[in-house]
Amino acid sequence: MKNCMKCKKPLTNDEVGLHKKLINRACTEFMCKECLAEHFSVSVELLDQKLAEFKKQGCLLFS
Ligand SMILES: [Zn+2]
Repeated sequence: MKNCMKCKKPLTNDEVGLHKKLINRACTEFMCKECLAEHFSVSVELLDQKLAEFKKQGCLLFS
């Protein structure tokens, strides 16, 4: 189980996948959705939308 590198919250697979997709696939430390949203100055809702899109595209990071 991985934890957010900023707030230490336990991460879901979706959050790990999202971090890889948005930042870098080679990352070994990850941020949760809330911290990613803050990092990109966007809303968590927008990240949820992106997540849904990536899944629809069949992105392997989310399988
Ligand atoms: Zn966090």
